[in-house]
Amino acid sequence: MRAESHGAPAPRDAPAATNRLSARGTGEPLPPVPARGVTVRWMGHATVLLRYGQQEIVTDPFLRLRLFHIRRHGDLPTFGADYTGQHLTALISHLHQDHLDIPSLRMLPAGSTVVVPPGAGHYLARRIPQVVVELGVGQSLRAGEVVITPVAAMHGGRRSLGVEAAAQGYVVRGDASVYFAGDTGFFDGFAEVGATHHPDVALLPVWGYGPHLGRHHLTPRTAAHALSLVGAKVAVPIHWGTLKPLGVRAAGFLTEPPTEFARHAASLAPLADVRILRPCEETRIEA
Ligand SMILES: [Zn+2]
Repeated sequence: MRAESHGAPAPRDAPAATNRLSARGTGEPLPPVPARGVTVRWMGHATVLLRYGQQEIVTDPFLRLRLFHIRRHGDLPTFGADYTGQHLTALISHLHQDHLDIPSLRMLPAGSTVVVPPGAGHYLARRIPQVVVELGVGQSLRAGEVVITPVAAMHGGRRSLGVEAAAQGYVVRGDASVYFAGDTGFFDGFAEVGATHHPDVALLPVWGYGPHLGRHHLTPRTAAHALSLVGAKVAVPIHWGTLKPLGVRAAGFLTEPPTEFARHAASLAPLADVRILRPCEETRIEA
């Protein structure tokens, strides 16, 4: 992935010498090399924007200040100056309200595509203007140069009476591959993701939206254990610090999970590069 991690031995006539000569010859900076890789922008909670050149992917978009009694802790997220929205695909991991937020989906361009777990298509297609595609584990979808593949998750899939679809995560493969775990408890599916997809980047939930976690969520420690099984080179903790129930005082659960995750990862997955992003901060992973 990163040039230094798997570069082939340099040929005898080291190209670096040529570069130095070129720079000296013109006195001008060398022209930029076309970017390869992915830019990961965390927009709070489980919402992450992945930019692969023109192709843009957003996970579980939640773009509002409140959801029932749950409030956003901080400002509304922005997509950033480089976002175009012209080739946008939204990935929905499961039907819980903080991951499948219909008003947020309506804010996305009408020409974008929304990918949902099998069983959720009819429910959603009647409520949003975008094209809705059901895609399940074992299937794949191509969006430009990017391939999207759902993977298993261990989490509830129920929204309301009669509306249910199994929760899933996604692997997005372009110049660099990204595993978005969605919402999940700890299970042996992490090892399968690692063995099958070898993701470069893991977007792992490390908390929830209150002082206590419900069933089937990752803690900072179990998320670090998951990272060790997934084997990604870069990990970005998500699903923390964004939402807070009304009446609950701001406390450590809003700030501590990612540093706890990094601390556990240092012993459980010591080779991984943990990058803690603030909301709407982004990081680049080069191919
Ligand atoms: Zn959930």
